[in-house]
Amino acid sequence: MIDFDKMIDNHLYKENKPKEIGRYYPSQIGSCLRKVWYSYKFPMETSPELVKIFELGNILHDFVVKVLQSEKNPDVELVSTELPFKQEYDDFLVSGRIDNIIIVKASGKSILVEVKSTGNVDFVEDAMPHNVVQLQLYMHVTGIHNGILLYVDKRNLKSKVFSVPYSEEEAVKIINRFRALHKFLKAGVPPDPEAREDKKTVWMCKYCEYRDKCYGEIPTSAKWL
Ligand code: SF4
Repeated sequence: MIDFDKMIDNHLYKENKPKEIGRYYPSQIGSCLRKVWYSYKFPMETSPELVKIFELGNILHDFVVKVLQSEKNPDVELVSTELPFKQEYDDFLVSGRIDNIIIVKASGKSILVEVKSTGNVDFVEDAMPHNVVQLQLYMHVTGIHNGILLYVDKRNLKSKVFSVPYSEEEAVKIINRFRALHKFLKAGVPPDPEAREDKKTVWMCKYCEYRDKCYGEIPTSAKWL
């Protein structure tokens, strides 16, 4: 008999290369800054379970591209499915190929579409703040100031769309988050466990590989959930 689970694991396995301080990725900045900091200082292999979840997101993204490209949807023209990203700020670089973004043209205007897979779209009532962060940054850098977040349910392909208004002020705050991360990494000091600051963000800790380390270093208190 073949062990297909094992074959999937083999197929998806990628060596985790250590990250270089001074080089950052747009996809990181919506996450908890302390978690990103840990990932530079204490690199860890991504668990096979998480790798599979990411791959499901990729599969869904490819499906969304096919839907947007379909001749049966003539009102939307797919312009690009990848966005090269390279920006230098002070003494660091933010770069990477952004492949969760699609550029389409509808009613004559260009729109950035950020695709997100979700376990249950019924629970998605608004654009999620950590997703908005990324989209704001992309809108700022590309100059395409129309953005939408498209959530697609992994169980049944039901979807929801939220439009995200561009805000230069928000984009500048996001760039400043990279500045803060760079400063903390250079100083060797971890940032606050920001995801534990608020009930709305503490869910991130459930999926954080550094959860034990973080709670070991900063136990639950009146300030930190
Ligand atoms: S456990 Fe939560 S607060 Fe701590 S690093 Fe992970 S995501 Fe951030």
